[in-house]
Amino acid sequence: MEKATHNLQMVDLKGQYEKIQAEIDAAVLDVIRSTAFINGPKVREFQANMERYLGVKHVIPCANGTDALQIALMALGLEPGDEVIVPAFTYVATAEVIALLHLRPLMVDVDPDTFNVTAEIIEQAITPRTKAVVPVNLFGQSCDMEPIMEVARRHKLWVVEDNAQAIGADYTFSDGQRRKTGAIGHIGCTSFYPSKNLGAYGDGGAMYTNDDELGPRLHMIANHGQVKRYYHDLIGVNSRLDSIQAAILDIKLRHLDDYAAARRAAAGYYDQAFAGLEQVQTPVRHPRSTHVFHQYTLIVKDGQRDALQAYLQERGVPTMIYYPVPLYEQKAYINAMANSFDKLPVTDYLCRSVLSLPIHTEMEESALQYITDAVKAFFKSRPK
Ligand SMILES: *Cc1c(COP(=O)(O)O)cnc(C)c1O
Repeated sequence: MEKATHNLQMVDLKGQYEKIQAEIDAAVLDVIRSTAFINGPKVREFQANMERYLGVKHVIPCANGTDALQIALMALGLEPGDEVIVPAFTYVATAEVIALLHLRPLMVDVDPDTFNVTAEIIEQAITPRTKAVVPVNLFGQSCDMEPIMEVARRHKLWVVEDNAQAIGADYTFSDGQRRKTGAIGHIGCTSFYPSKNLGAYGDGGAMYTNDDELGPRLHMIANHGQVKRYYHDLIGVNSRLDSIQAAILDIKLRHLDDYAAARRAAAGYYDQAFAGLEQVQTPVRHPRSTHVFHQYTLIVKDGQRDALQAYLQERGVPTMIYYPVPLYEQKAYINAMANSFDKLPVTDYLCRSVLSLPIHTEMEESALQYITDAVKAFFKSRPK
């Protein structure tokens, strides 16, 4: 068996760091020498640069993406028992914060091509108790937000975008206007977890909004509900982005579009190599969204996913299954859910069929060739 000559990884944070090492090291040392570790000027600089990059009025940094979602929901004045629509095919954080706040997650299915919720799916699920929806821009592309915002407007729902995986992607409206993902709903939330497209060297997150009432409110809640120090108007939490992470993120933000381009180039290589391979479905691009490929996720047909994963692993190709279990089958959520059902067919199928291949900013052509050759060799070794 041919052994991998590459050290293949799902993400290559070391290779990425080495290219910007001098800048990063200097920025980190600056913060240490300044001792302004919390709420230092670097945090405000990064915040302002994010506002410019995203084209939003308010960016509120916080400690991680899960906190961002929680604080966003806390800012909306929801009552215990209110329902929040959430896709069942997502990372657990999206539903976790809903349940923690004594709201009720109303789990819905997703589109089989984009893996995202749609306006039609959302509208069918709405009940008189539904107050909000959390569309997730999964794997790096936007939900079809224009019709989603229209359904939300008609039914008076808040829209909190979970943009943890799609920072930097653009969505185009029918009038030609382009906006960054996360800047379309009432609040957008993102994560700076190291492997995310804009990753810190530790934890971090942010919320963004164009709403002049929500902006200061989110800031207050993230800060113990303080209007000024030691005056608390709201019950809040303690959720901060520290200055070292802000300094690192501020540098990486300048490279974000190049990072997306590198991911897109790798995705293009995969697409081409798998064209005509009937046993897999390559990622479908929604015509309104650019794709920043947080993940490159195949649908492996005919129940061959686990066998392909094992075959690749033997050849030194790491893969991941995002996500193996629908949220409604997770033990913790069976009682917390607002709805109950046997299965959501698309979510159920995807959990059994998806496989994410390595994709990051440092993919070399020889590695891509090795990976795609291994995938093709697997299917050649199998009867049709
Ligand atoms: C990563 C992620 C989160 C949570 O972010 P953390 O920073 O790890 O708390 C939430 N939602 C989605 C879809 C994510 O991928």
